Amino acid sequence: MQVFKYDTRANVNYMVEVFAVASGKGGTGKTTSTLALGMALATEYDVTVIDTDTGMANMLFHTGLSDSETTLHEVLAGQAAVEDAIYERFGMDVIPCGTSLAGFREADPRRLREVVATVAEGTDVILLDSAATLGTRSAVLPIVLADRVVIVLQPTVPSISDGLKVQEYAKTYGTDVAGILFNRVTEDENIDTVARKAQRYFDGETLSKVPESETVRAARRASKPLLAHAAESEAAGAYREAAGKLTVRDADSTAVADRFRNAVIPDES
Ligand code: ADP
Ligand code: MG
Repeated sequence: MQVFKYDTRANVNYMVEVFAVASGKGGTGKTTSTLALGMALATEYDVTVIDTDTGMANMLFHTGLSDSETTLHEVLAGQAAVEDAIYERFGMDVIPCGTSLAGFREADPRRLREVVATVAEGTDVILLDSAATLGTRSAVLPIVLADRVVIVLQPTVPSISDGLKVQEYAKTYGTDVAGILFNRVTEDENIDTVARKAQRYFDGETLSKVPESETVRAARRASKPLLAHAAESEAAGAYREAAGKLTVRDADSTAVADRFRNAVIPDES
């Protein structure tokens, strides 16, 4: 517990930037990417990663936190304080989410605003690992509230067209696109051509092209983020390259916290 870290009475203003890591579909590698970007950014910044995919959470499996009693579910249900759901792992503050259906049902997504507002007062970078579909309130919230969104794409037409929907949605709510990140790239795809074409439609730059690799799957099986499991792998290097392009912006953390607290949530669509 680090309650002091979130003591707003300290009256010190820090910078913070909130990124949503999003894609149109599941399985594109949002959680893998959130943790890899988070670890790469943690060499320079104080990073907090939050699993906001409350219906299909899996960050806990990627971080060895599957036995944690207090997660975002309990916080969103009003049963626990944010501080109790924060775990220091791999040089980051990790807020995992539980996987039970009951936990999902009891969680009120509106409370996420207060969670992020609280965390914003004590960290430099927040990465919101987002849900895939844009159909529900809990799924859109991270994209609506973030400063910028990292769009994770597989180099296929359906994935890119889904990614464009994410961009459209983000822009509607004033969220900028930090960049697009190609993941699960295989050698038989002409990734450079695909990326060049996709680039015309997306606002942000291409952050990196992460290869499909057995090492990434092995990290997940070892319950570790890629950069902890295989820091020297090609995929890890690709994520470091992406993180290097995410110049963190200097926003006043109190202003960011206030923005989250006062955010109006769009109706269930
Ligand atoms: P999401 O959060 O978007 O649903 P995950 O990050 O959990 O996706 O990844 C889904 C599965 O795909 C995991 O088993 C993960 O290990 C695997 N995976 C992700 N990226 C890669 C990659 N570059 N190469 C191979 N497997 C990957
Ligand atoms: Mg995920």
